[in-house]
Amino acid sequence: MLITCPYCGPRDVSEFAYQGDGNRNRPDPASTDLVAWNAYVYDRLNPAGAHNEIWQHAGGCRAHLAVVRDTLTHEILSVRFAREKGAPAHGRRKSGAKA
Ligand SMILES: [Zn+2]
Repeated sequence: MLITCPYCGPRDVSEFAYQGDGNRNRPDPASTDLVAWNAYVYDRLNPAGAHNEIWQHAGGCRAHLAVVRDTLTHEILSVRFAREKGAPAHGRRKSGAKA
């Protein structure tokens, strides 16, 4: 599987470290909403298809990347720097929403 880093170009997945689900929205740190914190810590999507993920190019430029990967085919559908603002390439779940 190749991931095209926006800075380095196409690289083998062995250079990257999976950093987690890209759909999570962290509640305000001062929040005492236990339902929202429970959802943030424990709830994960498990789609059969496009999925937002965070990867780090650990063996390269060390940039964090927002990747959309098809979980059925492992095809990489899009890659951008995670620090870039804007809507994810695939729908994002609202905090606390059930999948
Ligand atoms: Zn890179």
